Amino acid sequence: MWIFRTHDIGTPYTASYRKVRNRYISEVKHGVLPTRQEMEEWIARKMDERPHNATFSVEVTPELVEAMTVQDSMEAYYEEMTKGEEVHCVGTRTRKRIRCVICMNSKFTKIKLPCGHIYHRKCIDEWARWKPKCPVCDATLQLVPDRGDTSSSSTV
Ligand SMILES: [Zn+2]
Ligand SMILES: [Zn+2]
Repeated sequence: MWIFRTHDIGTPYTASYRKVRNRYISEVKHGVLPTRQEMEEWIARKMDERPHNATFSVEVTPELVEAMTVQDSMEAYYEEMTKGEEVHCVGTRTRKRIRCVICMNSKFTKIKLPCGHIYHRKCIDEWARWKPKCPVCDATLQLVPDRGDTSSSSTV
């Protein structure tokens, strides 16, 4: 499966093109398809002058495309989601460098749900407002009760 992205890149053209393309390839090798915005931020950091418009293509697995779709649907449903009441998912803090499939980022502390899948707290809490199921395995999400119940030590 191929995806195509167009970015404004820096000079000299050939070197910049190669830099951006290698960045894509290395991220995809690590199982991460950078979002358009992440790539734009990276290019802005790495290349001061950006007069050239270049299109990049990269071959990705269907799983990565699926993860992208999850992110797109997050944006599309964001309005709907935030209408619902705020919720908090039950989970244990973890520093494992695993990609949160909701935002595609592997940075920052995340939480591990009872089903074993790992997300950022912010991401999964927002997701849960919209759909109270684990995005990966469809397990029903356990929510922390409203009234500040801290009896379970495993909750964050
Ligand atoms: Zn996330
Ligand atoms: Zn799960």
